[in-house]
Amino acid sequence: MRIGVFALQGAVEPHLHKLRNLGAEGFTVRTAEELATCAGLIVPGGESTTFLRLIGVYGLRQPLQDFAAAMPVWGICAGSILMAREVENPPQESLGIMPIRVRRNAYGRQNESFIGEVTLNLPGRAPITQESVFIRAPQIVAWDDGARILAEHDGKPVAMRHGRHLTTTFHPELSEPEHLHQYFLNICDGANSRASA
Ligand code: GLN
Repeated sequence: MRIGVFALQGAVEPHLHKLRNLGAEGFTVRTAEELATCAGLIVPGGESTTFLRLIGVYGLRQPLQDFAAAMPVWGICAGSILMAREVENPPQESLGIMPIRVRRNAYGRQNESFIGEVTLNLPGRAPITQESVFIRAPQIVAWDDGARILAEHDGKPVAMRHGRHLTTTFHPELSEPEHLHQYFLNICDGANSRASA
C-alpha cells in the first residue's frame, strides 16, 4: 500500500521509517499528482503557519480537500491544526477536514515540549500506555459527536478519529512500537478495499 507523507515541511523521515517497518510503501508528497497516487496521507508535525503559506504558494488547498473527501488522512500536531475546522490562539485558516476545534500551543511557552504518558484505546485492543512526545502541541478543545476519542493525556483527548480521518496532537513517529501507524494502515486498507469493491 502506498502511503504519502506530506513533505512541504516538517518531520517526514521518521514516518517513512515506521511505514517501512510495517511493510507499507511510504513516499513523499509535494504535488497534486503525487497526492493522487496515495492510498492515504500523513500530514506530519512541523509549523502550521509555514505549511499554510506553502500550501497557498503551491495551490494545494483544493487538492488536499478533495483528497480528504474520499481518502484517509492522519494529521499530527501541526497536521491536526491544518485538519481542524476551527483554530484558536490565534485564529487561523485551516483545511476543515475534521469537525474539531484546536487551540495552538496550548501547553504554554515554559512547557512547550514534554514527554507524557498516553493511554491508547484502540478498538478491539486492550488499552496501551505509551510514553509520548508533545512538541509545542495543540489541544483539541471541541469536537462533533461523531468523533471517537482514541487517547487521552491528563483527561484531555490527544488522539481522535472521525470516519476515515485521524488526528494526534503528539508525535507517534517518535514512540515505539508503531501502534498508531498500524491503526492508520488498517483505516487505509478498509477505505481502499471498500473503494475497489
Ligand atoms: N506549534 C506548532 C504549530 O502551531 C505545531 C508544533 C508541532 O507540529 N510539533 O503549528
